[in-house]
Amino acid sequence: MKVLVVGSGGREHALVWSISRSPSVEEIHIAPGNGGTGEAAVNVPIAATDIDALVEYAQAQRFDLTVIGPEIPLALGLSDALRDAGLKVFGPSAKAARIESSKAFSKDFMRENRIPTADYGVFHDHKAALGYLAGHPAPIVVKASGLAAGKGSIVCHTDQEAREALSRIMRDRVFGEAGDLVVIEEFLSGQETSVLAFTDGNTVVPMVLSQDHKAAYDGDLGPNTGGMGCYAPARFIDSALQERMVNEVLQPTVDGMRRAGTPYVGVLYAGMMISDDDFSALEFNCRFGDPETQVTVPLLETDLVTVMLACIDGKLDSVDLRWSDKACVCVAMASGGYPGQYKRGYEIHGLEQAGQLPNTVIFHAGTKREGDRVVTAGGRVLGVTAWDDDLKGAIEHAYSAVDLIHWPEVMFRRDIGAKGLKVQGGTP
Ligand code: AMP
Repeated sequence: MKVLVVGSGGREHALVWSISRSPSVEEIHIAPGNGGTGEAAVNVPIAATDIDALVEYAQAQRFDLTVIGPEIPLALGLSDALRDAGLKVFGPSAKAARIESSKAFSKDFMRENRIPTADYGVFHDHKAALGYLAGHPAPIVVKASGLAAGKGSIVCHTDQEAREALSRIMRDRVFGEAGDLVVIEEFLSGQETSVLAFTDGNTVVPMVLSQDHKAAYDGDLGPNTGGMGCYAPARFIDSALQERMVNEVLQPTVDGMRRAGTPYVGVLYAGMMISDDDFSALEFNCRFGDPETQVTVPLLETDLVTVMLACIDGKLDSVDLRWSDKACVCVAMASGGYPGQYKRGYEIHGLEQAGQLPNTVIFHAGTKREGDRVVTAGGRVLGVTAWDDDLKGAIEHAYSAVDLIHWPEVMFRRDIGAKGLKVQGGTP
């Protein structure tokens, strides 16, 4: 088989790595890819958002399968366009992807389908939104409805902050047209988790549970980032609670989508807030997570390509999805200053040595090749990933690799996975 992967981050490198291990795959292309994906795939210089060029390329190359990583091409209809061209594609249609690309749609959908979620209002008029705020004191959450690179939700602790957030979104238009509609939502407290699943539009099969580390610095301090690391399996919620989340959130979402005539095929990702034994859905994503994918695919024992094709063909119930009982850890190595300003273009040393360690793989994110050198080209640069029989071993392996890699001003957390050790009764 010949496979095209769309995207350029650590998630897409992990997908390429996993797909390349499939016995049925002969050739992989990735558009546009990064400084690490060229080893297992052909990097094609087409942006993930250039729908016409991607469809033209996919048709010319006759790919047997296209896998779409990021949300923007899904929201732009890449999946639909490829399917219309007669090609197989893993990733939901633009209509189904509204579950992520429109928070207003997603909230209304949850209400209609009785999926537990916070109370809310949707507004396109600034005055009406201010009126709602007057009747709903802080803490409260103000969200741009459209895609805003994960930055569109503002948790407001005072009424003044809420009015300012509204003004920044609706008047200053800091998120552009993503802020044409605003969702104002009741603040929920508790512990956050995400539940991801494969679905063929009917059957929902959950993935191994993972835990991301959003804060920039050790001890969950500092600003929020795209994710500084991840580990799996996460055991801070038990399997009974996970099953309830699948039955009460993911399955009704897939069923509701099918009933609405917009079947949902691909990966469904639910962001959840748990307090005591209760939970609410905070948001949905219409794709694999980043960095969740980097710790999930190494633990998947079933061939990923077989799973994706079963989703596309509506036969997921016939696949025996098996997970390894090992543990996996991914430590993000980032540019100094991330998530704020940072410099690019530093040569990365030690990659080869680190990549030769057993049970270790270095997923690239913000890197590019300049001749023989690999240089930094983004905020999150590498996802150093390792697995072992238990979490402690996986953490040790991952940090052994991290310690071999360096460039000026490199930044990473030293405590990825430590939370998981605490839950398991180990010593961080
Ligand atoms: P979202 O873009 O909806 O996933 O929100 C991003 C982050 O904002 C979440 O991961 C939460 O940390 C926080 N958040 C969103 N909605 C709420 C809410 N209703 N209550 C508390 N925190 C929230």
